[in-house]
Amino acid sequence: MTARPDKHDPASLAFATQSVHAGNRIDPGSGAIRTPLVMANSYALPDDPSTIDWSSTDVPLYTRNSGMNQLALQAKLAALEGGQDAVVLASGVAALHAVFFTLLRTGDHVVVADVTYEASWRLFAELLPAKYGIEATFVDASDPDAVAGAVRTNTRLVHIETIGNPTTKVADVAAIARIAHAAGALLSVDSTFTPPPLYSPLTDGADLVIHSLTKYINGHGDAMGGAVIGDRALIERIKGDAMVDVGGVISPFNAWLIQRGSVTLPLRLRQHQETASHLAQVLAADPRVAFVAYPGLDAHPQHELATRQFGGRGYGAMIAFAVDGDPETQNRFVSALRVVTSAVSLGHDESLIVHVGTGGPRVAAYPEPFRRLGHLRFSVGLEDVGDLEADLRAALDATF
Ligand SMILES: *Cc1c(COP(=O)(O)O)cnc(C)c1O
Repeated sequence: MTARPDKHDPASLAFATQSVHAGNRIDPGSGAIRTPLVMANSYALPDDPSTIDWSSTDVPLYTRNSGMNQLALQAKLAALEGGQDAVVLASGVAALHAVFFTLLRTGDHVVVADVTYEASWRLFAELLPAKYGIEATFVDASDPDAVAGAVRTNTRLVHIETIGNPTTKVADVAAIARIAHAAGALLSVDSTFTPPPLYSPLTDGADLVIHSLTKYINGHGDAMGGAVIGDRALIERIKGDAMVDVGGVISPFNAWLIQRGSVTLPLRLRQHQETASHLAQVLAADPRVAFVAYPGLDAHPQHELATRQFGGRGYGAMIAFAVDGDPETQNRFVSALRVVTSAVSLGHDESLIVHVGTGGPRVAAYPEPFRRLGHLRFSVGLEDVGDLEADLRAALDATF
């Protein structure tokens, strides 16, 4: 028997219905049918507050512990990712740090994907080893044998990205989860490039899923946030250690904006992906383009894994490519664009492109053409596909 859908019971709802209703409640004070924005640092205490646990994160008390808008967004994200609980923080990087800070201590070892967001890379390559004596080994996360080979007796955590930022290398989450768990380690997965309903890493055995809410989940380029979703006991530890006592708390206004932006997530994602898939093919067919990395293309090294892992629901909307020329040529191409904006960030409504050069230590792990030419990280937006295609073609004409 199928349960009757009920908007107060997110588990009974399909994804699109959850995107509209999960976390939202009628406000008991005003009767407003949408969670109001509550810009208050503190909430009224009971007559006898002497028994209160001042570190509690369950009841609204102080906005660094919990507030109306954080609680609503946490409930929504737990539902959308299929996790027991969620914690929201000030940025994606605050969420990454919260996981590492809470789970790791001096002498622990971590296995990290060799293609990973800049801050994750720097935390494990420089800051956590130097400041806290945490050891890290960087491996090719598209190769489960390499992950298995890097695990040690003191490995506590494996940290990967579903589709790696920026080269689009895809990790086999289920295989890596088995390796991590056999070693007694946890698996954290940064799924920023593959938000639900495209993919839910928890269903493949991940222990914690991390999102930069700044990207697709908010989707409008006007608020920063980060989230960790997973098992209730683990999330409770992260809230207690990293939110209450380190304090990278999200602003209620940003939580409210992200709750609103996430309503259209499944609609936006469908359009982002459809346009990205078309533009990846346009670029790949143009002889003036040196290479295109997009997991939806047959030629992508992890195309089959991506098709299986993402269940045919798509390949995201991030494309890495380079035009045929030196870094100066990449810059000329970017300057010739008239619709796509040159700026960092991704997953916004508008298309964004950034020329990632050939400098810096992370680049050593990138495939050969990336190391030689540099590359353009292209976040395909929601503009008309014809306008975007025409913009790319006109910029190629202007460059060569
Ligand atoms: C942007 C990004 C982050 C960091 O998120 P912020 O909200 O900018 O702090 C982490 N991981 C990935 C994959 C990202 O793209």
